[in-house]
Amino acid sequence: MPEPVCVRVPAKINLHLHVGAVRPDGYHELVTVFQAVSLYDEVTATAARTLTLSVSGADAGSVPADERNLAWRAAVLLARRAGVDPAVHLELRKGIPVAGGMAGGSADAAATLVACDVLWGTGLSRSELTEIAVEIGSDVAFALVGGTALGTGRGERLTPVLASGRWHWVLGIADGGLPTPRVYRELDRMRDAGATPEQPAAADPAGLINALRVHDPDMLGELLVNELQPAAVSLRPELRRALRAGVEAGALGGLVSGSGPTCALLARSEEHAVRLAASLAGAGVWRTVRVAQGPVAGARVREA
Ligand code: ATP
Repeated sequence: MPEPVCVRVPAKINLHLHVGAVRPDGYHELVTVFQAVSLYDEVTATAARTLTLSVSGADAGSVPADERNLAWRAAVLLARRAGVDPAVHLELRKGIPVAGGMAGGSADAAATLVACDVLWGTGLSRSELTEIAVEIGSDVAFALVGGTALGTGRGERLTPVLASGRWHWVLGIADGGLPTPRVYRELDRMRDAGATPEQPAAADPAGLINALRVHDPDMLGELLVNELQPAAVSLRPELRRALRAGVEAGALGGLVSGSGPTCALLARSEEHAVRLAASLAGAGVWRTVRVAQGPVAGARVREA
């Protein structure tokens, strides 16, 4: 019997998210800058007779433990590609908030690809794993590589971005999730009603990419932008107050991450992040406040 394989995989935040037109396939055309941050899920793959899955951690009850789970899909697709049986037990330990706009499900799918590839000795190349990742979902390819990257298309076409030094974030984690399709529907509704500008100034992330390259936290704080934010705030109006509380407490900038409701607040240094988190923890606007750093590596095997 092969030894179990444990893979750790980070959450992502979107520092820039431009949502373009709806494509014929129903997806929106995106321009986004992802950063992988130090908030992790773990997936342990153990040889088993059939495919089974268990979930532990905060919000585990709201994660399906069957074929609806993206990790399950990843195991099935990898097994099919490698011509083996998907004979594995997947144990998911959730540290990434569920339906939080941090791509936790995609992260678990990426971790499963890496873990099962090792467990089964399938030896697929990175580009073959990426092809399967893209088939599973838009954010899975990013979770494989991590770091900081520009994503186009559905977010699956990735180009690495140089982000000098360490970036310090405070993550405000809300009670309950926001289903991503619902947030996109709300954005479409708001755009149809003329409630948000169709072409805001967010299409080009060049300034933000420059701020990352030269490591200018003040500039980055000013340039954080998420065009899904008005829709997330429309569905969860308390996010407006929560973001304001972050900036009033001294964050250099803040935004809803992806489809929300998690918010990311930028700090100047690790020490600043810890102070900011402490003052926000007492403000009563979040369920949990966490300090995180980025960029970090994507899905990686944990050595025993
Ligand atoms: P994204 O930012 O990629 O849109 P998200 O972070 O908002 O996603 P997820 O935590 O990935 O949201 O999960 C959204 C939904 O997907 C959950 O409500 C759950 O029903 C389902 N799901 C499927 N697989 C998983 C998984 N492994 N972990 C968490 N949720 C999963």
